[in-house]
Amino acid sequence: MEKKHNHMEYNNVTKCEVCGNLTFADDYGNTDKCPNCGWMQDGGNELMEKWHGISYPMLVPLSRAREQYKKGQKFKATFEDFINGLNWYKEMLFWYNNKYYAVRYRDTGIFLKSRNTEQIYKSVDDFANNADINGRLLKDIWNEVVHPCFMFCAASESDYDYPPED
Ligand SMILES: [Zn+2]
Repeated sequence: MEKKHNHMEYNNVTKCEVCGNLTFADDYGNTDKCPNCGWMQDGGNELMEKWHGISYPMLVPLSRAREQYKKGQKFKATFEDFINGLNWYKEMLFWYNNKYYAVRYRDTGIFLKSRNTEQIYKSVDDFANNADINGRLLKDIWNEVVHPCFMFCAASESDYDYPPED
């Protein structure tokens, strides 16, 4: 029997927009992790950076990702990128002190949830300025935060205890 063509499989060779290495994309331009630098792209990251200041699905804007790659750094989003991501995607995750934190944008406020705690902020600005973890402002401890990302980066809530690999 003939194998049915799957548009979601990474069958097409393309160039990684960060490192220039060969990487594999599905028929819609979404790539698997670049075998060289780990970047993933969806074909629209230049506009994404222009319009929203971020990239998808990696969050770090493309131009900064290229700089980070050149310096041999990991792709890590700044707090500002994270806020831009929250405005656009509405559901985000990060890890701090080996605990996950889910941030959800709802009509009733911004919800910051961890295993045993939940805090609600009035707005994105309120969250950006006042979100705190154990009395320390999130914006001040961002260099200790691990793997800030869109919420899909962990497969399910049971996986949240372990940050995904960078
Ligand atoms: Zn690459």
